[in-house]
Amino acid sequence: MRGISRNIDPLGRITLPKEYRKTFGIKEDDYIAIYFEGEVIKLHVAEIGYRGIARQLDELGRLTLPKEARRTLEYEDKQLVEMFIAGDDICIIKAGNSCTICGKIHAEHQVHGKPICEACLIEAAGVLDLRRRTEAMRNKEKSLEGRASNQAM
Ligand SMILES: [Zn+2]
Repeated sequence: MRGISRNIDPLGRITLPKEYRKTFGIKEDDYIAIYFEGEVIKLHVAEIGYRGIARQLDELGRLTLPKEARRTLEYEDKQLVEMFIAGDDICIIKAGNSCTICGKIHAEHQVHGKPICEACLIEAAGVLDLRRRTEAMRNKEKSLEGRASNQAM
């Protein structure tokens, strides 16, 4: 379930995709509540009286991600991020953290610098293990055959 890839602009702003704005009825000048869950930045329309972190959407559908958040999450200049919808939230995660194989966010492992999730790693190891065992079995059969034919001579 890969989402939409976007770059943060040099001023730390991100453009909310039009279809997301439409889905959630987000309009220009709306205040967007911003909160964090681990490495995921979650956004939704701030309700009246909301006292947390919020940013106003500009006329181009952009909002500025808080500088502290960008620093804490180690966002680079023009960081590439992935956006997706989960429940009532628009979620943002640093691109490159999702599994190279299945796209699951929060890949727990890295292989040659590529993020891979636990499930895919186990599956890949299983495939390799099966292949090794099949080969070992074949070799064993071959050597048995060899022995059998030697005895027949
Ligand atoms: Zn995976």
